[in-house]
Amino acid sequence: MYNETALVVFSGGQDSTTCLFWAKREFKDVRALSFLYGQKHAKEVELAQNIARQAGVTFETMELPLIGTLGHNALTDTSMPMDEQIPDGQTCPNTFVPGRNLFFLSVAAVYARERGIRHLVTGVSQTDYSGYPDCRDSFVKSLNVTLNLAMDAQFVLHTPLMWLDKAGTWALADELGVMDLVRRDTLTCYNGIPGDGCGHCPACKLRREGLEQYLASIHHSY
Ligand code: ZN
Repeated sequence: MYNETALVVFSGGQDSTTCLFWAKREFKDVRALSFLYGQKHAKEVELAQNIARQAGVTFETMELPLIGTLGHNALTDTSMPMDEQIPDGQTCPNTFVPGRNLFFLSVAAVYARERGIRHLVTGVSQTDYSGYPDCRDSFVKSLNVTLNLAMDAQFVLHTPLMWLDKAGTWALADELGVMDLVRRDTLTCYNGIPGDGCGHCPACKLRREGLEQYLASIHHSY
């Protein structure tokens, strides 16, 4: 365990909640930072706060509405139907919020620096990245170098889920003893329904398939 503090970029979804409890296992002190960026479901932040309370970690929200208004996407524009898959001729679905992880991690790094924190944790995953370029390992490694150069700092960006698929993320939650909490209290659904969600949006499908796969794998091992 690191005798240091970690700041988790925390949305209250399955991935960042798993990261929050991972950080609690790995670090002496953990804090959570959530961003309001004009997403359709501001309720997300209330749910995130509830999870942070259960985890016993300090929770703070920050307003970043600029991100939602700069780029045109289906997470912040309610009139836009969400792509279920990557459309032909495109590199990512319209649920991609351009620059989101770049902004989040940059703001989080400045926030952390002010508080003497150098460890940042994000739940991005290259395995299930849905075509989002800012969830890839090369992006996070590149940004880590950039942030260190930008602030003459020694930040360490931790990505515990980078090489896990959704089944692997469920396995990690189970290992951390928070599988039930993740199933019940997190919000992953693009339609804003917590827990098992609406069941048909791309995020729900990915989450459910991962869960079924994980449950089947532990079933077979007995
Ligand atoms: Zn859904």
